[in-house]
Amino acid sequence: MNTYEPHIYELSTPGKHGASLPMLDVPESTLPADLLRQDGLADFPELTEPEVVRHYTRISQRNYSVDTGYYPLGSCTMKWNPKLNEEAARMAGFAAAHPLQDAADAQGALQLIYELQEYLGEIAGFPAVSLQPAAGAHGEFAGILVFRAYHLDRGDHDRVEVLVPTSAHGTNPATAAMTGLKVVEVKGDARGNVDLDDLRAKVSPRTAGMMLTNPNTLGLFDEQIVEICEIVHSVGGLMYGDGANFNAILGIAKPGELGFDFMHYNLHKTFSTPHGGGGPGSGAVGCSAALAPFLPGPVVVKNADGSYALANPEKAIGRMKAFHGNFGMLVRAWTYIRTLGAAGLREVSEMAVLNANYVRVKLKDVYPQAIDRICMHESVLKGQIAGAPKDVRTLDIAKRLIDYGFHPPTIYFPLIVSEALMIEPTETESKQTLDVFIDTMLQIAREAVETPELLHAAPTTAPVRRVDEVRAARQPILRYDREAIARVRSE
Ligand SMILES: *Cc1c(COP(=O)(O)O)cnc(C)c1O
Repeated sequence: MNTYEPHIYELSTPGKHGASLPMLDVPESTLPADLLRQDGLADFPELTEPEVVRHYTRISQRNYSVDTGYYPLGSCTMKWNPKLNEEAARMAGFAAAHPLQDAADAQGALQLIYELQEYLGEIAGFPAVSLQPAAGAHGEFAGILVFRAYHLDRGDHDRVEVLVPTSAHGTNPATAAMTGLKVVEVKGDARGNVDLDDLRAKVSPRTAGMMLTNPNTLGLFDEQIVEICEIVHSVGGLMYGDGANFNAILGIAKPGELGFDFMHYNLHKTFSTPHGGGGPGSGAVGCSAALAPFLPGPVVVKNADGSYALANPEKAIGRMKAFHGNFGMLVRAWTYIRTLGAAGLREVSEMAVLNANYVRVKLKDVYPQAIDRICMHESVLKGQIAGAPKDVRTLDIAKRLIDYGFHPPTIYFPLIVSEALMIEPTETESKQTLDVFIDTMLQIAREAVETPELLHAAPTTAPVRRVDEVRAARQPILRYDREAIARVRSE
């Protein structure tokens, strides 16, 4: 049985309110009729202040977060978000700055944006950066629009195809489709790299570019990355780097030097700005000198006199976002980079990769590895446990982890691995935490063989038990609807 949290509407009592106004001590006046509302007020919940605060505080405590526990959600880099970042973002000069303030009055904020552009460019090996996009997928969209603008600007009108490997994150083909280009799938090989023969067969004068995540969604560094870039460039195509997995190579490899022309950074993954629940995020983008004129603007430039100003790249594709992107995220990422410095950033990746391999090696004899290779910052295992009944699936393992107080890893992604379990421990977890997680995973594997009903019943300790995920996706109830909710609860 699920124990539902009552909806705030269900707690409402007509006539209750959270504020009391003093008796009128001035003459009453009437508003002109045309200023008066003609229709009744919407159906608002009516509660006292303590009832409202308790309701929201209670439901906030039901939220799992990096502040409450280990969060090995693969592909998402749920690392610790240092509280120092929050302190910086909360400084009044940043938090209370108005986006329409004159550049002369906002030099500190502009300097921060400029420096972050410079740092990100240096870290990934790109001469130009724009901080406009609000998420990774938004950065991808900017990138493919830039590719299109670049080709069209050269009078190259036939480049309508984007190559995407089968191991791509779902946002990659979605992005290509949204820009109106055609997605052409490229196969992977047995080692989890892009299949070079298939790539050679698919590039052509119609190729606008290729979108590639490296390390890829199997958590593997593509061993032929330089050849891949050469093949795509040889037909005049451009290389898009999905930088969501940048946490594996900070200070070790620069995508700009590997051959990528454009990349998005997920500041909310790699650079420790909080994420989850839909944002706000930041999908900064960096690119080669040839593509720089097309970057979305405004970007911040430094004048000869040392002052900072907003400027639009010469052939900018336009804006991606109102004002200057999610500025609070930029402050956090700047703070993170300055706190760690170059050596610290490299250590981030070394530790992220070490932690991922530690977990992988401890689990792989029980949870088979999708591809038997050293991984980068995450590993892809399978929930196929020897000796367990066939109906014990990865989903059951994930749900059982909830009973033990862990957020489950990513499951059933990447799509090319059956029963995938994608584990990304991140660098900010201690060996003790990883050991408890590993022991728990091994315990669950034993249960899968001996007491599989425990896995099928899980989670038993969470307020909401198994949810009907298919129905939630097909018939979402996105706003308060008394009847729909009553119907679901009575089932
Ligand atoms: C997270 C992720 C994205 C999308 O980033 P959002 O900020 O969620 O839009 C794209 N590609 C990969 C590989 C990712 O892990």
